[in-house]
Amino acid sequence: MNHLKLAGRMDGSRTVIRVGELRIGQDLTIIAGPCSVESEEQTLTIARAVKRAGAGLLRGGAFKPRTSPYSFQGLGLEGLKILAKARTETGLPVITEVLDTRDVGWVSEYVDILQVGARNMQNFSLLKEIGKVGKPVMLKRGMFATYAEWLNCAEYILDAGNPDVILCERGIRTFEPWTRNTLDLSAVPAMKELSHLPVFVDPTHGTGRVELIQPMAMAAVAVGADGLMVEVHHDPEHAMSDGPQALLPEQFDSLMADVNRLKDALNGTIHENDVHAGKEIALEGSEKGRVREYAW
Ligand code: PEP
Ligand code: MN
Repeated sequence: MNHLKLAGRMDGSRTVIRVGELRIGQDLTIIAGPCSVESEEQTLTIARAVKRAGAGLLRGGAFKPRTSPYSFQGLGLEGLKILAKARTETGLPVITEVLDTRDVGWVSEYVDILQVGARNMQNFSLLKEIGKVGKPVMLKRGMFATYAEWLNCAEYILDAGNPDVILCERGIRTFEPWTRNTLDLSAVPAMKELSHLPVFVDPTHGTGRVELIQPMAMAAVAVGADGLMVEVHHDPEHAMSDGPQALLPEQFDSLMADVNRLKDALNGTIHENDVHAGKEIALEGSEKGRVREYAW
């Protein structure tokens, strides 16, 4: 039997990850930005817009895991420099995906959070390498992964020495072709039950449909997500990746307003809800080491 010694739920305490002013796992945190970093102007325009709307972190891919080798692969180092510039200008911490074990060390110097994409969730060499760096990591759920497989991947990172793992549900493949993926919101309370790690939801890749992003973002917050990851582009028609699923800045403004209203409305009840109980006793740093064996 496998034991989720580190990722498994323990004593009711939950992991809280500090990134600058943010307390991920304690306060609702919104990550927004383009699918890909395309240029300085594009990234800064979007960064300013999402900052204004109240996002806590800027996303942007510099290394893109594309289905076709002929699709835009990302700007690499140049993209990381643009992200760093956007951080300096807006004050937003940044998150980017790392695809290759060889890039983990140097990429981690440019960003605040590393992302492991769905396609790489079970790239065990990458997970072990990421476990060695001192930056938080967001582990997206593989599109064919069960909860046990996903949590075991988190276990790899934790076991390699990195305690700051965020889980992100981004939809799974089902027989439904109208949506890009089927967003499994059961994963949120399930992960809260099985693990102490923060759980995010990506309604953008999870649905692939602009009109579904806001409702599913609301549902994710209602079901207890610690945060959201949303793609935003000021000119989706000319985006180099994932344009059709990007929210315009004004659509993102509206999403943020709705999410904030929902958060306020939930505030009265949230502390009595078991799913959120850990937040009442959210622990910072010192308690993060408390684990007990969880037998899957
Ligand atoms: C992304 O967030 O940029 C991405 C590629 O998502 P996923 O790995 O979930 O497909
Ligand atoms: Mn994308």
